[in-house]
Amino acid sequence: MRRIAYCCPFVPPELISACRLQPRPIIPRASSRVGGAVSVAGMCPYARAFVAEMLNEPRPGAVILTTRCDQMRRAADLLSQPQHPSVFLLNLPKTWQTRSARELYHSELARLVRFLAELSGHMPSDQDLAQSTRQYAHRRRFQNDSTCAPAARSSGTKVKGGGNSHVPLALVGGPLLREHLAVFDLVSACGGRIILNATESGERSLPGQIDESQLACSPFNELTRIYFEFIPDVFQRPGTRLLNWIEDRLRDRPVRGLIVHRYVWCDLWHAQVARLRDRFDLPLLDLDHGDQDGPNTIRLSTRVQAFLEALR
Ligand code: SF4
Repeated sequence: MRRIAYCCPFVPPELISACRLQPRPIIPRASSRVGGAVSVAGMCPYARAFVAEMLNEPRPGAVILTTRCDQMRRAADLLSQPQHPSVFLLNLPKTWQTRSARELYHSELARLVRFLAELSGHMPSDQDLAQSTRQYAHRRRFQNDSTCAPAARSSGTKVKGGGNSHVPLALVGGPLLREHLAVFDLVSACGGRIILNATESGERSLPGQIDESQLACSPFNELTRIYFEFIPDVFQRPGTRLLNWIEDRLRDRPVRGLIVHRYVWCDLWHAQVARLRDRFDLPLLDLDHGDQDGPNTIRLSTRVQAFLEALR
């Protein structure tokens, strides 16, 4: 079965499976290079690592990228070479409140199905799609929240922490590289505990629950709804959706501090740090990850340690 790689939470694996292809959510490893000849100066380390992973062997049958940020568009350009796997660029609406934004996402998913069906030779029926959607919903129901998100789902990562003496924290931000999954252990070793994973690799990227009656009526519309109406992201405007989502979770969790995980070349999360400070009356640690090959653990642990000491 051909493997279809993706890393954005707005790409439904339900659609890929319904087309009899194998969804392959990617948690890239840090990489300082993309091929020998390609210049990647000023590129988000996550987008760069994703491109590098796509060029490693074994290569996927196709790659799905989205227009959530300029860096991912650039990644799509870098991968759009005849010798590379086929690339599908899914257009995501920047806004989320209007009917036309939802219709755009719906029509983009329809375009994606046609692309996938061409690859596999199988156009899914409504029944295929409903069955695939139910299977994923069932799987998510029995998994820990933070292990269900695209990245953590395949890594088996669980939120770790110690007992009640650990300081409860929220981790907020963009997607994690494979090396960054160590941040849960690092926080735990420094006396903290992440009780809300609001990174792109955590529960924030989970679609909503399915409505059986809507699914029976139109599986495609229902799939659009559970993704479009439930996943908040930093690129969406107005940005209140993401902030409201975090605020709702903080209401019933005793979080005492926010750790923001972001990359130096990511303008979206850079701008979000100030909004988080304004909105939440909580101490905030801005963990920016630079261009080095993987997270700088000494720098990281010193900063996490100092933050937790101040909180205790
Ligand atoms: S971290 Fe920022 S720049 Fe990098 S892919 Fe995500 S949104 Fe784009």
